[in-house]
Amino acid sequence: MKIGVLALQGSVEEHARSLRRLGVEPVAVRRAEQVRELDGLILPGGESTTLGKLMRLYEVDQAIRERTAHGMPVYGTCAGMILMAKQISGGEAPHLALIDLVVTRNASGRQVDSYERDLPVPDLGESPFKAVFIRAPYIDDVGEDVRVLADVDGTPVFAREGNFLVSSFHPELTDDDRIHEYFLNMVRSARPN
Ligand code: GLN
Repeated sequence: MKIGVLALQGSVEEHARSLRRLGVEPVAVRRAEQVRELDGLILPGGESTTLGKLMRLYEVDQAIRERTAHGMPVYGTCAGMILMAKQISGGEAPHLALIDLVVTRNASGRQVDSYERDLPVPDLGESPFKAVFIRAPYIDDVGEDVRVLADVDGTPVFAREGNFLVSSFHPELTDDDRIHEYFLNMVRSARPN
């Protein structure tokens, strides 16, 4: 199973560490050719405008669209979620436009820049997930095929549509690997062609 972490900018090493703890040595993805060999891809947090520009510059965006059209699962955290959303509120053009969400950038920054929450996530089992939010985007609206896996006071923060998974928080900054494990299980059952 070949898992990539987009390594143009952002929290790449933290995701790699989580994956290694689960027995997967990830590929640090910087070029389009690398995307074509993947079974699954993680888009890290960072700065979505910069990540979007670099993806276009290296034509990684096109390669991701091709692979996802053939069923490759993608998981986006924070800025990675912004890259995947079909709509960004405020009129900014979408990047990969993979998942049917409307997101607002830096939404949690209006109140406080960063915070942690013990988040109940029924799909991950009984114990809550310690979610770390850093100038996090919020999900304003979800399409009808999107399943919300967790919310904060009614605002979705973890969601899935088919082979696409997003969280507005950063599981790679904790030692809890359940979300990475959940994503690896998505990849195991997807068998992209
Ligand atoms: N605020 C960042 C953006 O809009 C995302 C923050 C993050 O990834 N921690 O790109």
